[in-house]
Amino acid sequence: MSKFEYLLSPIDTIKGVGKKTLSSFNKKKIFTIFDLLWHLPISKIETADDTEINDLQVGKNYNIKVIPIKYNFPRIRNLPNRVICEKNGIKLDCIFFNSYEGYIKKLLPLNQEVIVNGKANNFRNKFQFVNPTTKNTSNLNIINDDSKYSLSDGLTIKKYNQVINSVFQNLPELEEWLPDTVSRLFNNVTWKESVIKIHKEDITKIRNTKYFRRLVFDEIFANFLLSSNIRSKIKKIKKKNKILNLQHQNKIINKLKFKLTIDQLSSLNNINKDMESKQKMFRLLQGDVGSGKTIVSVIAALNAIKAGYQVAIMAPTEILAIQHYKFILENFNVYCYPEILTGKTEYKKRKKILSDLLNNKIDILVGTHSLFQEKINYFNLGLIIIDEQHKFGVNQRKKLSDRGGKDCDVLVMSATPIPRTMMMTIYGDMDLSLIKSKPKNRLPIKTYSKNETKIHDVINFIRSEITKKNQVFWVCPLIKESKKIDHQSAIEKYKYLSKIFKDKVDIVHGSMSKEEKDIVLNKFNNRKIDILVSTTVIEVGIDFPNANVIVIENSNKYGLSQLHQLRGRVGRGSKESTCILMFKAGLSDNALKRITILKNTNDGFKIAEEDLKIRGYGDILGFKQSGLKKYNLADPIQHEDLFNIAEKEIKKIEKNNIKIKHFNKLIKLYDKVAVINETI
Ligand code: ADP
Ligand code: MG
Repeated sequence: MSKFEYLLSPIDTIKGVGKKTLSSFNKKKIFTIFDLLWHLPISKIETADDTEINDLQVGKNYNIKVIPIKYNFPRIRNLPNRVICEKNGIKLDCIFFNSYEGYIKKLLPLNQEVIVNGKANNFRNKFQFVNPTTKNTSNLNIINDDSKYSLSDGLTIKKYNQVINSVFQNLPELEEWLPDTVSRLFNNVTWKESVIKIHKEDITKIRNTKYFRRLVFDEIFANFLLSSNIRSKIKKIKKKNKILNLQHQNKIINKLKFKLTIDQLSSLNNINKDMESKQKMFRLLQGDVGSGKTIVSVIAALNAIKAGYQVAIMAPTEILAIQHYKFILENFNVYCYPEILTGKTEYKKRKKILSDLLNNKIDILVGTHSLFQEKINYFNLGLIIIDEQHKFGVNQRKKLSDRGGKDCDVLVMSATPIPRTMMMTIYGDMDLSLIKSKPKNRLPIKTYSKNETKIHDVINFIRSEITKKNQVFWVCPLIKESKKIDHQSAIEKYKYLSKIFKDKVDIVHGSMSKEEKDIVLNKFNNRKIDILVSTTVIEVGIDFPNANVIVIENSNKYGLSQLHQLRGRVGRGSKESTCILMFKAGLSDNALKRITILKNTNDGFKIAEEDLKIRGYGDILGFKQSGLKKYNLADPIQHEDLFNIAEKEIKKIEKNNIKIKHFNKLIKLYDKVAVINETI
């Protein structure tokens, strides 16, 4: 058996692990020897101090292994109970005030070894502990360097340590996979040494050592390598290069109502280069809400169409799909024929669309992500655009890319700014174009917070905005009132606002049909209504440039990034915009922090960093659904430096086409724990 096979073998290959122990370990999701090693101890087992009783120092705390030899329970008020104990023939008294005899007898059974923990005191020349605690004696024959683990039924600490110790006796020294320069950063400590250390030393003290950090690095490195590997695999796919007509493109650009920003132009340039190359494009277009990603992707789509290809655009929600479709239909229908297909498209219409696609009558098919689920045949699909997604993992994107066929380029757009350290973890498989600057005409969104009880101020403010011909989003967390959750509901708020603003208010929420939603959104778009009450269905990507006020109810309920996304529904036109964060009295510290950050900055990337700090990794909006598994040891805040080093190394490796020693083995070990599991 090779060293790696040993690590990946099931733990019942370890001597002494039978069916029962195996199933106990399995309950803790420990299946292989590597899993076992990857499962960190909680702390050291506290063992007895070897101090002799005569050497105790008054005032210090000790764990002393003693044998209780006699009880003295005086049964007189105010006199304490006493247990006389002995270590190596010297006596130590354990004194108990206000304790029952039964309790004391249980704590210190006569003539059995027990560890007592207490502060040394000297009374009439005798050492004593007052109200000591005792330690579990069933582990008295443990070895000194054993550790405490979280256990499941049927596992004792003793058994756990026996198994670990027996693994350590056979633990192979693996060939080094870290590049020399990196290995040197950790004083060349090996993987094996490090693993033993984290199990045998006090885990609470070892986190800043080279041993622990080396293992952290291994984890990050394996994760990044896998992404990079997927990326280079995609890049190796030879495709037919697209012949773009840039004159045609520039004609389109010149007719736009606005000038593209430098970042928009350079992103478009990146995309065009990719499409013109013989390598398949797998690119992320990242930009904060309202930075203008849509127009970039649509121009890219028109370029692909002019070059003779079809394009598929996928949005995460139906509302957004409709919006994209209309945007294209209304502005660019001289250049292309778009269609829309969603889960709700009628059978007949659907059949027609599918046949038109195959006959190359449709140039752009806009749809929801459900377009991926089914097999749709195109005449010659050349570009897939995926909007606003942060819900796919690396493996899924790889599948998407495969599904389009080999000549099909892939562009992913995301408005979820993520902390820089997380970039590689989440998007390491893609090339990146960033739109950092917002269009020039944008004014920062003024953000205020308001106690719910002050709603009349808000109403007055809105009234004045409406007289200025501005429009308002009013977002509530619930559709209907709920007995369980004390949050504002859209329906109640709609009733309330209708009393004040009459027929200038309407409502959209998730349980309305597409047609119903459509009618309302159209009314809002055509300025037939001034206030749109909604649930967070309007969260992603919706674009109503005339709306410049958003009121967010129960704002403390949302995370920073989500609030930022919601706020991004306004501030899309050239007018000054306002966001009002409503809250109930009694905000938590974290909620207060979030609101303060939002008031102080409009920069999505900064907000993402702060979000990470407040919530910790793994809890950030979107990551939970992303199917991205938590790192076991690595933490993007604490180990930022290691993430950066890993990223640099990966770039070096990619640039110089370096083969990583034992790459496959490393991935095999870490893939399961470190990277991605597949869920949408
Ligand atoms: P997002 O990046 O959030 O998807 P959108 O593409 O929806 O942003 O763009 C937001 C709004 O900004 C749209 O109304 C769009 O027409 C407008 N826009 C895009 N680019 C520019 C620009 N360069 N100058 C002015 N407005 C722009
Ligand atoms: Mg968008």
